[in-house]
Order: sequence, then C-alpha cells, then structure tokens
Amino acid sequence: MGNIILNTDEHKQIINITEQVQDIVSKTRIKQGICSVFTPHATGAIIINENYDRGLCNDIIRALNMIVEEHADWEHDKIDNNAASHIKAAILGPSETVHIKDGKLQLGQWQDISFIELDGPRSGRRIMVEVIEQ
Ligand code: ZN
Repeated sequence: MGNIILNTDEHKQIINITEQVQDIVSKTRIKQGICSVFTPHATGAIIINENYDRGLCNDIIRALNMIVEEHADWEHDKIDNNAASHIKAAILGPSETVHIKDGKLQLGQWQDISFIELDGPRSGRRIMVEVIEQ
C-alpha cells in the first residue's frame, strides 16, 4: 500500500513514523481495519511506545545495550561484526499491527509507531505499510 524510506544518521536511533503511517492509512480511505507496519531489515525494528520524550528513547537504547552486550565474542561478529544489532532486532521484532477505526490509527495517547535503527547510519531503510479493510 505504501512505503516509508528513511536515512538514519546514528548507529542507534529511534525515529517516529506515526504521521507517515497515518498518511498512508488516510490515502486508502479505509475506515475500519488492520494496519500492518513491517520493516524488511535484519538490523532494524518497529516498536510502539512513547516517542515524545527523547530521554525515554535514550533509555530504550540504553536498556537494549544493557541486555545485549556489543562484541561479546558473538559468532556472527566474525562475519560482519554486527551480531548485537541482529540480536536486538530479533528481540524487538520487524513489525507491529494497529487497529483502524474511523480512518484513524487506534494508538493510545502516549503511543507512537517508531522505526529503531540498530546498525546505522544507513540509507534507504524501508518500512512497508499494508492496510486490510474489515
Ligand atoms: Zn550481520
């Protein structure tokens, strides 16, 4: 239905894509259904959480770094030195699903849809948005 293309400029970065997703949903003119947001990258992820406070975005990245240590003798580091980025992406997952009612994403007041870059900076990060009418 629609793609969002992002260029990232940090190694780890959380980018709010809620407005772009809502624009794609609005263009479909679908009033009720399901919206799937998927990124086809092994070192990026989609999350739904608060994106208003930059401090929280920093906290999420810091927590991921605490959970998964960089260069902890990971086997994949021998291939392209980014195993921790893959593991973080695997924990978070590549997609989220949101209900649509009256043509609007049914997010809570403090929920945003964000792309998380885990191995940047990169150009051409792609997010695919599909809407299923119900
Ligand atoms: Zn890799």
